[in-house]
Amino acid sequence: MSKLTRRGFAALAAAGGAGAAALAQQPTREITAASVPGDPIAPGPQEGTLPEEEPFRGPLHFTRQDVTPRVQPFAGTDVRLLPGRFLDTQQINEAVLRRIPAERLLHTFRLNVGLPSSAQPLGGWEKPDSEVRGCFASQFLTASAHMYASTGDEDIKAKADSMVSGMAECQARLRGGYLSAFPIELFDRLNARREVWAPFYTIHKVMAGLLDMYQMCGNKQALETALGVARWADTWTAAIPEEHMQAVLDTEYGGMNEVLYSLAAVTGDNKLAEVGDRFTKKRFFNPLALSCDRLRGLHTNTHIPQVTGAARRYEISGDPRFRDVAEFFWNQVTGARCYATGGTSNNEGWLTNPHRLAAELGRGEATTECCCAYNMLKLTRKLYGWSADPRYFDYYERVLYNHRLGTINLETGATQYYLGVVPGSWRAFNSEWDSFWCCTSTGVEEYSKLNDSIYFHDEEGLYVNLFIPSEVTWGAKGARIRQETQFPEVPSTTLRVSCDKPARMTLYIRVPAWVAGAAGVKVNGRVAEISGGPGSYIRIDRTWNSGDRVEMEMPMRLRREAMPDDPAIQAVLYGPLLLAGQFGRDGLTRELAIGPMGPQLKKAPPAVIPSLAADESIQPAGGPLAFRATGAQVTLVPFNQVTDQRYTVYWRVS
Ligand SMILES: [Zn+2]
Repeated sequence: MSKLTRRGFAALAAAGGAGAAALAQQPTREITAASVPGDPIAPGPQEGTLPEEEPFRGPLHFTRQDVTPRVQPFAGTDVRLLPGRFLDTQQINEAVLRRIPAERLLHTFRLNVGLPSSAQPLGGWEKPDSEVRGCFASQFLTASAHMYASTGDEDIKAKADSMVSGMAECQARLRGGYLSAFPIELFDRLNARREVWAPFYTIHKVMAGLLDMYQMCGNKQALETALGVARWADTWTAAIPEEHMQAVLDTEYGGMNEVLYSLAAVTGDNKLAEVGDRFTKKRFFNPLALSCDRLRGLHTNTHIPQVTGAARRYEISGDPRFRDVAEFFWNQVTGARCYATGGTSNNEGWLTNPHRLAAELGRGEATTECCCAYNMLKLTRKLYGWSADPRYFDYYERVLYNHRLGTINLETGATQYYLGVVPGSWRAFNSEWDSFWCCTSTGVEEYSKLNDSIYFHDEEGLYVNLFIPSEVTWGAKGARIRQETQFPEVPSTTLRVSCDKPARMTLYIRVPAWVAGAAGVKVNGRVAEISGGPGSYIRIDRTWNSGDRVEMEMPMRLRREAMPDDPAIQAVLYGPLLLAGQFGRDGLTRELAIGPMGPQLKKAPPAVIPSLAADESIQPAGGPLAFRATGAQVTLVPFNQVTDQRYTVYWRVS
């Protein structure tokens, strides 16, 4: 770990502003285990003993051997969202992408190479003296590429194309392929192990943005520019002895390994994968490959992208060590380190040993950074492709509905940094021009690709994983599937098939693990002799004709989930939805809701939150997803519908 976390730098950059205030907060609330002074993610003792074996000892050797995925996602261009909340979300994000001028995004890139720019600088993490400037601008390319694939919006593409040529112009003025909005001197500091924020983290975003512009918008200049940066990264890392490079990797570097492996896959140039191998942080991977959780004390969002890189390495080499790393990490984080939202991290780190979430929750209010949820979804989608195991989508759905849907403001398009799960929290959103945090960047990416995991396919079958109004076109089968649903307000979905001529295919429809009983299925109005138990797929293999339709009912029920280390702290869920109690806006000023990176609980009066009885009666309360806890006298609604009130998702149970 570097001495300062990403948020620590943010706090310094905020020069005493909201970020710094957030850092200083420690909660004093009913659900509190302990508060820790000093470094919020200082490591503590790890559980168990670490085997002496080191799967990642010695040099890595790359041989290209592609692993055939079990299933693959449809391209963004094949899936269109239909009216509903997901489309509303995509559209407000599209408006955000449209209103940020390209010249403002390119401003610091141009200044860095001595080109004139009269654009008004952006603020926050993009401002001209920020050490991660250029990050948002680069992730804007990824977001634009996804948005173009999702919508066909030519204006979005044209602006992103103009940014690619603007960035290429800057690269041409620098030596060796280097391209950044900050001077190369930051890499001298990185190499000398002097204090610096996260230079390779930013370079990863530059390369990924360019690669996405090539892959989704066909921009060849973007690929050439990305390969130039890869050449520079090769030269820089080749000069550094392995042992010292391992020390350099202590500074956050995003998914440098992943983007280099992806470039190797696209170009067939194995040399790029060898450069990617230099970004293997062996001290982190070794325990994971041995199924050993040494995550305590690590900065969460520094490490998730490294694991996605490991997953990519497995896909193009078949090396099982990398698969072991990715699968154990995913199982451990989702099974032992995620709150009821599916989000992970507190104070940006994993602060405790596994299965100690109540203790971790007591250590701070800066819970579940949005980037972590975003990056876990990316990793989940990849791992699902290897196995088509529906449990990956139980997690994906949980994060999508309970973390991601609520973290964008549907009126402004602003997004969140920390999603608070400490009782009494509220949602704090970025300001329009003075935030540009990491989570603002992953936010514009996330909401540009809400179509990307609804459907997967193999040679013969189509997999329906999420219940989102949408239409998928499967060119190879000459078929289109239109999904009409009001899920989750109505717990069912309808799939309508249209095809040029009768089409043989298998339809796999996911039956979520939360379904109460069995899912009921009708084909063309008739009850089918198939039913799927929770956590499986319903499989319908037939020759489909235009007009065929499948309906599936997914009964929901209320249930509680207790903290693994404190059964008296519980969350209430209905189907896939985490429910929240709302407690008004007392003390919530505009300053507390717009600009800070998360809720600052000491700045508002204590929220009075009732406890629930162990046998609390929770009854439907009028609206389709509203409930009333009759003893506690509180109304529960889906957490993703809570926009501007203080809330709790965790209850003390008496
Ligand atoms: Zn973030």
